[in-house]
Amino acid sequence: MTRWGLIGASTIAHEWVIDATRASGGEIVAVMSTNEERGKKYAAEHNIPKSVTSLDALVSDPGVDAVYISTTNELHKDQVLAAAKAGKHILCEKPLATSLADAHTMVDACRAANVVFATNHHLRNAASHTAMRDAIAAGKIGTPLAAKVFHAVYLPPHLQGWRLDRPEAGGGVILDITVHDTDTLRYVLGDDPVEATAFSQKSGLAKAGLEDAVMGVMRFKSGLIALFHDGFTTKYSQTGFEVHGTEGSLVGLDVMSQKPIGTVTLRNKDGETELKLDQKNLYENGIAKFHAAMAGKGKPAASGEDGLWSLAAGLAVAEAAKTGTAQPINPGL
Ligand code: NDP
Repeated sequence: MTRWGLIGASTIAHEWVIDATRASGGEIVAVMSTNEERGKKYAAEHNIPKSVTSLDALVSDPGVDAVYISTTNELHKDQVLAAAKAGKHILCEKPLATSLADAHTMVDACRAANVVFATNHHLRNAASHTAMRDAIAAGKIGTPLAAKVFHAVYLPPHLQGWRLDRPEAGGGVILDITVHDTDTLRYVLGDDPVEATAFSQKSGLAKAGLEDAVMGVMRFKSGLIALFHDGFTTKYSQTGFEVHGTEGSLVGLDVMSQKPIGTVTLRNKDGETELKLDQKNLYENGIAKFHAAMAGKGKPAASGEDGLWSLAAGLAVAEAAKTGTAQPINPGL
């Protein structure tokens, strides 16, 4: 059984990852919080036997095999480097870092330490996205020409913190949501983005110069163009993911979600068919793959390199929105 240490007493671990880890056969043995009192309370609430306040105490614990890093984004790099040095396998939240150079340092350190390094891009673990990927690979829509990602949501009040006012922590909707869109597009299409253009919006919810919505277009290697709309500000929008090809279209509704929900319809010359989806918890699927990768069986759902790609795209979108000119997407791989 994999023994996990949590780096960060976070909301995402509380809402999804602790349960998913246990459901996938993992044990959570320790949590690190910089605040001793909060860490103790978090450990007690989640039935975690130990809470520590220093990174060193967590990564040097011989009873920990793997760590899950879900602190704010500017902290990921040093935490990954310390865990890799201590020989721990690492599941790190997205965006991997706030700069591409830092993310490269993280990927290189994990490779050198020979530990599994994964990025927690949960959406590629959804039945809906896998069904779309399989349908495209089977030629059901011919050659994909265009995609549309609708991922504008309303940021729940309990998450209205650093995402809205801390640029240095990687706040803003682009590093929060556009990185997920990029990873999902790469997964579903089996293609990589090369260029992005975007306009961002500051409607007042986000402060300190941060954007709270963005719309843009990415061009992929194949020539496909993908439209995306990400936001923290839209209370009543519906999420969606569409791919349109020469011979058909795939329309996913409610599929940009943490929950195992949504529908996917295939439309082609034969009419409309709703694809059968084997809906399962996305985070459980991801952790099960991580456990298998630790045992030498396959790869994690999204690797460190996948995290480099999504970060490179996010940074290019941010730059495009800032400068008003299209920017190349180059993860440096
Ligand atoms: P939180 O704001 O909940 O946690 C981040 C840090 O803030 C924690 O490490 C903790 O510090 C501190 N903190 C948390 N709650 C409190 C509190 N009540 N009072 C004071 N401090 C607190 O972050 P999220 O869970 O929203 O995000 C964490 C990471 O996960 C980010 O990288 C984010 O991008 C990613 N994420 C990924 C998702 C996915 O589906 N893949 C979804 C949501 C987030 P300390 O550790 O010192 O206790």
